[in-house]
Amino acid sequence: MENCPFCSIVKGTGDVSLVFEDTWTMAFIPLQPIYAGACIVIPKPHIDHFTDIPDELAAKVMITAQRVGRKIREVYKPLRVGMVVHGFGVHHAHLNLIPQYDPLDITYKHLAYIEAGEVKFAPKELPTPSRAELDEMARSLRIEHG
Ligand SMILES: [Zn+2]
Repeated sequence: MENCPFCSIVKGTGDVSLVFEDTWTMAFIPLQPIYAGACIVIPKPHIDHFTDIPDELAAKVMITAQRVGRKIREVYKPLRVGMVVHGFGVHHAHLNLIPQYDPLDITYKHLAYIEAGEVKFAPKELPTPSRAELDEMARSLRIEHG
């Protein structure tokens, strides 16, 4: 799909710090990883809602997420690897793999604050590593196909 940053990555025209790729899926480091080792897993076809991914492709996405999750555990040694699908931001279905060192890490709790009685988040507080640093994270998790 035009103007979709994840489709650009799939087509090879967008910058990416690639962790894994096979025929149907890709895994890469987000531009603002909440922790080192955070990863995004996508199906290659442009599908907006993850609930619309066909069964066989959904299984492939989950298998990639598990493989990458095992590698995150091996390299970064979090207590758990969690997964979030919020569906906002890029409208191309994606799973966010989150290394967790605390039960509330999945909620991005260290970015939360209360203003006028509402819980808000400060995404500007997310780290913004350089491309070289993102590439280094990707290298640490890289899984060759097969
Ligand atoms: Zn797309």
